[in-house]
Amino acid sequence: MILILLGPPGAGKGTQAALISEKYNIPHISTGDIFRQNIKNKTKLGLEAEGYIHNGLLVPDELTIKIIEERLNEKDCRNGYLLDGFPRTVFQAESLKKYYLGIKEHIDLVFFLEVNLDLVIKRNTGRRICSCCGRCYHVYFTPPKHKDKCDTCGGCLIQRKDDTESVILERLSVYLEQTMPLVDYYVKAKILYKLCGDEEITKVFENMCKIIDNCN
Ligand code: ADP
Ligand code: AMP
Repeated sequence: MILILLGPPGAGKGTQAALISEKYNIPHISTGDIFRQNIKNKTKLGLEAEGYIHNGLLVPDELTIKIIEERLNEKDCRNGYLLDGFPRTVFQAESLKKYYLGIKEHIDLVFFLEVNLDLVIKRNTGRRICSCCGRCYHVYFTPPKHKDKCDTCGGCLIQRKDDTESVILERLSVYLEQTMPLVDYYVKAKILYKLCGDEEITKVFENMCKIIDNCN
């Protein structure tokens, strides 16, 4: 099964991807997470991508496609995967279709999470991630048991550099201009499912599972 999660920054793609990955036992591939890991480890790729990410811009397609190609070639992707944050441009979507899907493979479902604009700002500004294991929290919606400490590993919770209000507004404008065209692109392919991302995490997950189970 190959799934794609589409939606504005803060729509809940990563949150839902973690739940789907666990329930359906498919790898969760987040290009954002791969970039952040590279930035943390100060790799060449991290150094190249850092400026774009911290300013709310998309990393150029060639670089993004290179990391996706490497990741999709790993063994665990042979029986499907869940893409979170990729593709983000029509060029990336075309590359996925032309070069990375095997002869017998096809994208099963694209979930488009629609979220109200005020909520987009609130979700992003309140997001905190564990600096050790990457688990995601929210200061209002899903706070940790102990302030600034991860429930899973005890690591320190930090705010992403691109989760400040000014960068969020830039990311949102980039999303509207470069990623929104993918909605039409996947509507035309008849694989897009629109979901209300304003609802509670468990409700959104329930709605996604119904669609996945129907498709199997
Ligand atoms: P994305 O991957 O789309 O950028 P995330 O999954 O990281 O979004 O979610 C952004 C923030 O909003 C996180 O802090 C997360 O805990 C919180 N969140 C995600 N989905 C919901 C929801 N349905 N209701 C409330 N908070 C949510
Ligand atoms: P995310 O974790 O999905 O919110 O992504 C964080 C940032 O990483 C984005 O704002 C972009 O700068 C960069 N990024 C992630 N995925 C892509 C992609 N598919 N194409 C270009 N840039 C990306």
